[in-house]
Amino acid sequence: MTTRTALVTGASRGIGLACAKALAKAGNKVVLAARNLEKLEAAAASIREEGGQALAITIDLSSPESIQESIKKAIAEAGPIHILVNNAGVTKDGLSMRMKMDDWNQVIQTNLTGAFVAAQAVMSGMMKERWGRIINIASVVGEMGNPGQANYVASKAGLIGLTKSLAQELASRNITVNAVTPGFIETDMTAVLSDEQKERITSLIPLKRLGQADDIAAAVAFLASDNASYITGHILKVNGGMYM
Ligand code: NAP
Repeated sequence: MTTRTALVTGASRGIGLACAKALAKAGNKVVLAARNLEKLEAAAASIREEGGQALAITIDLSSPESIQESIKKAIAEAGPIHILVNNAGVTKDGLSMRMKMDDWNQVIQTNLTGAFVAAQAVMSGMMKERWGRIINIASVVGEMGNPGQANYVASKAGLIGLTKSLAQELASRNITVNAVTPGFIETDMTAVLSDEQKERITSLIPLKRLGQADDIAAAVAFLASDNASYITGHILKVNGGMYM
C-alpha cells in the first residue's frame, strides 16, 4: 500500500489531534500544524511511539504568508500532500450590535481565508498526483446559525460554500472536497460552557450526549480513505442528531 501524506491544521489538541491520530492509524504519514510547536512536537512524538509516521510544523492560519511558507516546508520535508484537513478554528463571540471589526476579521481570516489559502497551496501537488482529499471542518452552527457568533457562523457557512465550489473545480483531477459539521464536541473550545449549559445542550441532542473528538476523527478518516472515493461536495453532519 502506498503511504499518503496528510496535513492537519490545528493538530496540537482537540479535534485536530484526534484526526491526526486516526489518519496515522490508517497508515498515512501525518504533518501536524498549528502555532504551538512544543505541543505539536509532543503530539507527533506520541504518534511515532505508537508506530505511526508524524512530524510537526508551525503555521499561523491568520497569515496567508505563513500558510504558504509552512506548506512549502511541509512538502519539502514530507513530500506531496495528498490529504488536507482544514481544522484550525477560533471563536471571538459577541452580539453583532457590539462586535468589533477586529473580532470579525480575525475569525473570518483564520477559519475561512486560512482554509482557502491552505487548499490553494496543496491543490497543484494533488493535481500532479491525480489524487487528493480536502476535508474542511465546519460546524453545525454554520448550518443553523447561532446568536452571538455571527463571525464564527459566517466563517463556517462560508466553508460549506467553499467546499462545494472546490469540489466542482477539482473533481476532474480525482480530488474530492468534503466538509464535516460537528455538533457540540468536548474540547478546549467548549470547556468554557457551564454544566448547566452543557445539560441544556445535551437535552437537545437525540443521542443524549456531547460528541468526542474521536467521533469527528472517524468521519474524517473515512472521507480521507479510498472507501470514500465517490463522495465529493458532501456536508457530513456529525452532531448526535441535534440538527438534521
Ligand atoms: P480547540 O481545542 O480550540 O483547538 C483549536 C486548534 O486550532 C488548536 O490546535 C490551535 O492550536 C489551532 N489554531 C487556532 N488558531 C490558529 C491559528 N491562527 N493558526 C494555526 N492554528 C490555530 O478547538 P476544537 O474544538 O478542537 O475545534 C477544531 C475545529 O472544529 C475548529 O475549526 C472548530 O471551529 C470546529 N468545531 C468545534 C466544535 C466543538 O464543539 N468543539 C464544534 C463545531 C466545530 P494553536 O493554539 O497551537 O495554534
